[in-house]
Amino acid sequence: MTGYEFAVCLTHDVDRVYRTYQSVYNAITERDPTRVAGLFSSQNPYWQFERIMDAESERGVRSSFHILDEKSLRERPVREWFSTSGWKLFAGRYDPTDPDIAATLRVLDRFGWEIALHGSYTSSTDPGRFGHEKSRIEAAADTRIRGNRQHYWRHSPPDTWRHLRDAGLRYDLSLGDSHALQYQHGYDLHRPFDDEFVVFPWSLMDGAVMRSAESPAGALENCTGVFEEAREHRSVLCLDWHLARFAGSDYPGWGEVYERAIDRALEMGAWVGPPGRFYEALDHPEGTVDDALATLASTTDRREAPSGSPSLATHDRSE
Ligand SMILES: [Zn+2]
Repeated sequence: MTGYEFAVCLTHDVDRVYRTYQSVYNAITERDPTRVAGLFSSQNPYWQFERIMDAESERGVRSSFHILDEKSLRERPVREWFSTSGWKLFAGRYDPTDPDIAATLRVLDRFGWEIALHGSYTSSTDPGRFGHEKSRIEAAADTRIRGNRQHYWRHSPPDTWRHLRDAGLRYDLSLGDSHALQYQHGYDLHRPFDDEFVVFPWSLMDGAVMRSAESPAGALENCTGVFEEAREHRSVLCLDWHLARFAGSDYPGWGEVYERAIDRALEMGAWVGPPGRFYEALDHPEGTVDDALATLASTTDRREAPSGSPSLATHDRSE
C-alpha cells in the first residue's frame, strides 16, 4: 500500500428537504395563489438522499449528512414572520423526527453514512441548544453524533466550540470562509482546548466552486486546484455539498461536478470518506493529518464503504 497523499471528507448540509416554503412565500409576496401549487406537488425536488447514496455507493465512498433541528417560525418573534429572512431561516425548516426523515437517517446510518449535526442559526451563542438538537437527532436516527458544522457557519470561537464539546461533540467543521477557494487557517487540524476536540481547517462549499466558473467543467477544474493545494500540503479538505443542490432543475450541473470531484480526488491519491471516520483515525491530543493518513492507509482500503448496498426502492418519494 502506497499510502494516501491527502484526505477529502465528504459532507452534506441538510438545510431543506422540501421546496414548499418558497412556494408559499412567493404566493404571498407575488399575490399569485397559483404559486402554492408547488406545495401539493408529489415531487419534492430537494429530497435528494437517494441520488447521493447512489452516487457515493457507485464510487465505494461514504459521507456525512449534517442535520438541522431549526427553531420553528412560531418560536421566533412575530416581526420575523413577515420578513424574507424570517421565512428563509425558520419557515423552511424540517423536523428531524418526522417519520420519513427519521427512517431515512436510519437507513443512511445502517449503510455506513455518518449522521452529524448542523447547528441551528442561533445555536452559536446558546449554550444549551446543542445538547437539545443533538439528542433529538440521535433519537430519530438511533445513532451517536460526533460532528458538527454550523448553519451559515455561524460560530463565535472559542465559546461555540466549548459549548459543542460540553454537549459531547468531538469535531467541528465551521472554520473558514464559505466563499473561498483557498485555505485560510493553515493545513492541519486545530485543537482549541489541546484535547480530543478537533476543528478541521476548512470546508470547500459547493457555491464557492460552482460560482467560480462559467461552466461545470471550469468549476471542476477550480475544485481540482483546491485538491492540488491540499495534496501539496498533505492536508484534509471537507467538501460541503448541500442536499438540495443535487436538484438538477434548480442547480444544473452541481451534482455532476460533485461526482466528478470524488473521481478526481481518488485519482489524485486521496483518502475519501466521512469526517467522523477520519476523526477516528486520530490520536489525541497530538495526532496530525499526517498521522491520520498513515493510520487510514494501514487500516482501510482506499474507499470507505462497508459491504452491502442500500435498497433504495422503499424510499421512493415520488409516490
Ligand atoms: Zn446550513
